[in-house]
Amino acid sequence: MIIPDEIQARDDYKACASFHGHTCMGLTLGYLAAKLAMQHLEERRALDEELVCITETDACCCDAIQVLTGCTFGKGNLIYRDIGKMAFTFASRSSGVGVRLAMRPAVMNVPERERLLAEKIRAREATSQEISEYEELHQKRSSSLFDQGPAAFFSLQEISLEMPAKARIAPSILCDGCREPVMITKLQDMDGQQVCRTCRDISDRNNGGK
Ligand SMILES: [Zn+2]
Ligand SMILES: [Zn+2]
Repeated sequence: MIIPDEIQARDDYKACASFHGHTCMGLTLGYLAAKLAMQHLEERRALDEELVCITETDACCCDAIQVLTGCTFGKGNLIYRDIGKMAFTFASRSSGVGVRLAMRPAVMNVPERERLLAEKIRAREATSQEISEYEELHQKRSSSLFDQGPAAFFSLQEISLEMPAKARIAPSILCDGCREPVMITKLQDMDGQQVCRTCRDISDRNNGGK
């Protein structure tokens, strides 16, 4: 997909790109999702309270989400669920009212001819005529999507959910294995010893290898 110059010239997009380290389609999708969600929540005046984002992917897009929405891993209001979908839920911490955005299948939908040409180009079998035909098709598809705005990329559904409790910071004690301080709530029991996850994994691996 070709990211329009108009978007790349925006200050808030530049802030996302500088945080992320490069410009890419993933970042751009996160940018569009955040813009769409924030606009919707602003209209509903749901932004006064602390916003929480549940992301179903941990790809490039999350960096734009963090910059634009202020939901960050460090603050504990960006929650990662390993689902593997380009989908994000934004909700108020106190009320649980918010929206879920999910990438529309159409974004992935590459028409037959364009796909065929792309394959030929990848295999270095395309003529210069086919290359320009591909570029034209690709450009057209990109700009027709971008021209429709963020809603062409994401569906938006209002939701109300039970919010996960705020991440607590628990005291740390030493792991019986490696003797490094570890949050007490993260310790695991291993034959009566209280060990960290890493020590537990190492032990499991060693036992499994026997
Ligand atoms: Zn990226
Ligand atoms: Zn340990």
